[in-house]
Amino acid sequence: MVDSKNNFATTPDPQAFVQIQSLSKDFDEFKAVDQVNLDIRKGELFAILGGSGCGKSTLLRMLAGLETPTSGRIIVDGDDITDWPAYDRPINMMFQSYALFPHMTVEKNIAYGLRKQGIERSEIDRRVQRMLELVQLGGFAKRKPNRLSGGEKQRVALARALIKNPKLLLLDEPLAALDKKLREQTQFELMNLQDELGITFIVVTHDQEEAMTLATRIAVMKEGQFVQTGTPAQIYEYPKNRFVANFIGTINIFDATVVELDDSGLTAKLDHSEILMKAHTDSAASTGDKVGIAVRPEKISISKQLPMGENITTAKGVVLDLAYYGNYSIYRVKTESGLMVQVSAQNRQRSSEHVVEWDDEVYLSWEQGSSIVLLE
Ligand code: ATP
Repeated sequence: MVDSKNNFATTPDPQAFVQIQSLSKDFDEFKAVDQVNLDIRKGELFAILGGSGCGKSTLLRMLAGLETPTSGRIIVDGDDITDWPAYDRPINMMFQSYALFPHMTVEKNIAYGLRKQGIERSEIDRRVQRMLELVQLGGFAKRKPNRLSGGEKQRVALARALIKNPKLLLLDEPLAALDKKLREQTQFELMNLQDELGITFIVVTHDQEEAMTLATRIAVMKEGQFVQTGTPAQIYEYPKNRFVANFIGTINIFDATVVELDDSGLTAKLDHSEILMKAHTDSAASTGDKVGIAVRPEKISISKQLPMGENITTAKGVVLDLAYYGNYSIYRVKTESGLMVQVSAQNRQRSSEHVVEWDDEVYLSWEQGSSIVLLE
């Protein structure tokens, strides 16, 4: 059975470790989270991705027990925890700000949760030591947070969240406070750590690159609902609608009208032009439908020679912009019919031998299978 609103199977996944069932949160009349359904398996690193205000933190806070749902259930490892207080849940949360205690050393920050539970000193010391090793902060035990870098603080916060052995770890924008280089490095550390511990992670982020690299699966959220759920590749290659297509990576979307349907897909005529585009589609399109034909910049070839081949779309144009990034270049090409098309191409030759330059007349081409049909 498919939930037409959220468009994914509502039949429970028998292997689901976390089950979110019709979960909603209203603030007065406003629906911050609106009937969300989700099954997450044990050991997944699941990302909830969406723009500011879409409801992702509210959803996370309901899982953590920091916000009371208006309706719906939350089940973790077979227990319905919807009405459990935060401190009884087998869940820990790492906050965006890390929320470290400034007056405590690294080891005291990490030990805090266990000390509150009244666990024996020797046991605490053993587990803190293990955590320090795990997050590679062995030499920092006696330091206070103000003498740590952003990345080190993030690792202390992670160790503090992990030490109580939660079944589920929630991370709210875990890398937001780090600069770009450190983010990339920390992303890999986080993935390794998750792999080593096998804990289920749910990460909330507005950063699509972060979600794509970290997650086993992603739910794209908009206005309190999940628009699409899938692996990073499914979401990137087969976005369900314009919102998802635009949210994940760069994409060219051309407005077109379906003129022909056949076994291999459809042909659409671009609005205000004579260009015909071919695309595979599983969607129920009919002749005359207005659709968006979407093509990722890296799927488009750019050349000075007219490309040959079956089932390809070609367009002639002029290079208006060229940005050189070393290993690849981005071209913005204006076609004869006035479309602006973005193309990215790997630089296999040395820059001095670049074949395509500013103001060059070029041909763009892409295969039928590279086009995505967007009905909405
Ligand atoms: P951001 O990335 O900016 O943190 P978000 O997706 O995490 O955004 P939420 O914090 O979940 O968004 O908020 C979702 C919506 O609910 C927002 O419009 C917000 O203003 C509203 N909201 C959140 N908390 C409350 C509250 N306590 N009372 C009223 N409205 C709230």
